[in-house]
Amino acid sequence: MSSYEQNNVFARILRGELPCKKVYEDEFALAFHDINPLAPVHVLVIPKGEYVSNADFAAAAPPELIVGFWRAVAKIAKDLGLDSSGYRLVANHGAQSGQSVFHFHVHIFGGKMMPHDMTKLPGAAAKG
Ligand code: AMP
Repeated sequence: MSSYEQNNVFARILRGELPCKKVYEDEFALAFHDINPLAPVHVLVIPKGEYVSNADFAAAAPPELIVGFWRAVAKIAKDLGLDSSGYRLVANHGAQSGQSVFHFHVHIFGGKMMPHDMTKLPGAAAKG
């Protein structure tokens, strides 16, 4: 995968150059509502660091950032009231996943029953 592009949309949100509907922020992560929600609750969580995707994040991020990021994801889902009803986490990596923004992010989907059929996953392309 190509190297980190400094002017991707999430980098610009992190730098405060673009607005977002913020849900949560701490030293490790920023969370905001997806601009094109695919479920009643659709929040994106991004780490505070320059990582293209999960592979890059897992390999290159310091352990405290990885722990802090994933704890933030769990806290945000809980704070959104999704713990008892359930929720889905999605992190797209690369072309065949449909990744469109190349700053690592996790989608939190909730508020409705999630289909198991991969072709009906939020944002999934119908053909492979
Ligand atoms: P992915 O396809 O996994 O890379 O997800 C990128 C997501 O970012 C999509 O669900 C987009 O709707 C969302 N998105 C793109 N630009 C913005 C923005 N400015 N604010 C919030 N969400 C955005």
